[in-house]
Amino acid sequence: MSKDYYKILGVEKTATAEDIKKAFRKLAHQHHPDKESGNETKFKEINEAYQVIGNVDKRKQYDQFGADFEQQGGFGGGVGWDDFMRYARGQNGGSFDLGDLGDIFGDIFGGAFGGGGARRRQAVGNDIEMRVDLDFKEAVFGAEKTIETYRVTACQRCHGQGAEPGTTLKKCATCAGHGIVEQVQRTILGYMRQRAACPDCRGQGNRPEKTCQECTGTGVTKQLTKLRVKIPAGIDDGQAIRLDGEGEQAPYGGGAGDLYIRVTLRRQDDFQRSGNDIVSTTTISFAQAALGTKVDILTIDGVVEMKIPAGTQSSKVFRLKGKGVPQLGGSQRGDHLVTVVVHTPSKLSKAEKKLFKDLAHLHGDSIETGGLFGFRLSTAYY
Ligand SMILES: [Zn+2]
Ligand SMILES: [Zn+2]
Repeated sequence: MSKDYYKILGVEKTATAEDIKKAFRKLAHQHHPDKESGNETKFKEINEAYQVIGNVDKRKQYDQFGADFEQQGGFGGGVGWDDFMRYARGQNGGSFDLGDLGDIFGDIFGGAFGGGGARRRQAVGNDIEMRVDLDFKEAVFGAEKTIETYRVTACQRCHGQGAEPGTTLKKCATCAGHGIVEQVQRTILGYMRQRAACPDCRGQGNRPEKTCQECTGTGVTKQLTKLRVKIPAGIDDGQAIRLDGEGEQAPYGGGAGDLYIRVTLRRQDDFQRSGNDIVSTTTISFAQAALGTKVDILTIDGVVEMKIPAGTQSSKVFRLKGKGVPQLGGSQRGDHLVTVVVHTPSKLSKAEKKLFKDLAHLHGDSIETGGLFGFRLSTAYY
C-alpha cells in the first residue's frame, strides 16, 4: 500500500515548496485534532506527507525512488505520534495559539521529525523483473546468460559509502555517533521532546567528511550492470528465477531488492514442448505404414532411429522414453512423443496409379477417378 503524498496534500507533483507549505497549513488548520472539525488520523497523514515532500532532500528521494522507499521506512517511519500527543497534551499542557499555526508547523513538521525515525527499519530497494529469451535447447539443458540491466546499485565512485574517495567517514557531530537525536521543540502544543534518527547522518552515526560527487552521498547511482546468470535445466516458458539481492539498492546503506528473470522460449519448429515431454511429428508413406519401417527422429539428444511396425495407423503416437526435458531441479527426464502422419500421395506416375488400382481391386474398394475430357468415371471393381 503506497501513499501519494502529493494527493494527500492536494497539490500537483510540480507544486512549488511554497504551494506545498500553503496546502499543508490549510489542511493542518482544518484537521487539527484539538479543533472541533479535527481528525487525528487525517492530521497525522498530512503531517507525514509534509515531512517528506515539504523537505527538499526527501522530496527528491521520494520522487526518484517513489512510494516504495517510503514503505520501507526510508521516510520518518518511527515518528511516535502517540508519544507526541501524550507529551504535548499531558505533560506540558501548553497553550494553543491556532492563529499562529503556520510558521510553527512549518518548523515542527518540516524538519524535526524527519530522518527515518529512531526506530528506523532497514530500507530495502525495489525488486526488478527482466525477461530473457532462450532457445529451446537452452531451456532444456540450462544455460549461462549475460544480462544487462539499468538499476540503482552501489555507487562505484564511493563503493556505496557516500564519501568522496580519499576522504573518510567521520563520527557524526550532531548525534555523537549514536544515530539518534533528542530534540526539544516549542510547538503550538507547548514544548515537546522527540527522539528521532539523526537528520544529519540519517541514523548511521557517521557522515562523509566530504560527500561523493557522483551520488551526492546517497551511496547509490543508476547504472548499467552486467550479470552472469545460470539458467537451470528444465525451465519452461513464463517461469522465472530469483536472484537474491540483485535488485535495486536502497540509498544510505539500505539493503537490495531481488532480481527476477522471466524466461521466454523462442519458437522451435522441429518440436514443441508439452510440460516435460517433447512432441513432434513424422511423416511416412502408405507403403511404410503398411509394411513397417525405421525412421530417423530428431530429438534434443540428436537423431534417433525409431521402429514403426507394420500396420501403423495415421496419428499413432510413439514414445521415446527419457528423451524429453529434465525435471526442473531434478534428474528425471520426460519423454519424446512422436505422432506418425501417413502421407497420401497427390501426384502419381502411371505405374504407381496402376499399382494402386490393382491394390484397390484386390481389396474390392470402390474408387472414383478423373476421366479424359473432364468426365468423371466411376469405376467399381468386383
Ligand atoms: Zn558515491
Ligand atoms: Zn548523526
